[in-house]
Amino acid sequence: MAEPPDTSVDRRGFLRGVAAGAAGAASPMSAHPHDHGHGPSHDHDHQDVPSDLTLRTKALESLLVEKGLVDRAALDALIDTMEHKVGPRNGARVIARAWVDPAYKKRLLENAPAAIAELGYSSGQGDHMVAVENGPRVHNLIVCTLCSCYPWPVLGLPPVWYKSNAYRSRAVIDPRGILREFGTDLAEDVEVRVWDSTAELRYLVLPERPAGTEGMSEEQLAELVTRDAMVGVRKVSPAPTGGNP
Ligand code: FE
Repeated sequence: MAEPPDTSVDRRGFLRGVAAGAAGAASPMSAHPHDHGHGPSHDHDHQDVPSDLTLRTKALESLLVEKGLVDRAALDALIDTMEHKVGPRNGARVIARAWVDPAYKKRLLENAPAAIAELGYSSGQGDHMVAVENGPRVHNLIVCTLCSCYPWPVLGLPPVWYKSNAYRSRAVIDPRGILREFGTDLAEDVEVRVWDSTAELRYLVLPERPAGTEGMSEEQLAELVTRDAMVGVRKVSPAPTGGNP
């Protein structure tokens, strides 16, 4: 006896779905299965007409607004959050604080969502987060093998390569190979730990503080921390110019 489809989607779940759709629409490469490498700035469009996904997202949005199921202002507010309030600069400030404040670092490793909220960063997609610490003998790498789960409050929306089939499969099968492609060559005695994010549990890498940054302020340190380092595909480098040696 077949059950009718459940159409009672709660508002939070619904908005999450729309946000995910918008994220897909904003990333035309997500419709391209071919691999272009892992450059973070790879965002050019390959086609003159919008992709199927973009068209479907727009059609869905129009229909939902027209039927009064979603308020366009609410949608705009959600997009504004994604564009301006969440992003890797938030994560960088969290990491810099952890580097300069051992008590904060301890709290971050014990209860990441609470420690991150201390700095004022919180939103959906980050209620359950775990920070994993890199060290001289351990390197952590984050992936979502199923789709693109990612810690939005601290990193914003995931880059295209994070969502690619190539990254999602190879991060598990050949993490050292993936890391080499990002220019991260690890010694054989460094253990690589791969963390598979899910909708329920997302990870943030606490990278190693680079040598030679002892005299830097928290703000200067935050400038060094990159999104890729917090995903674990790269290490943090000391700034080549400016700041302290
Ligand atoms: Fe996912």
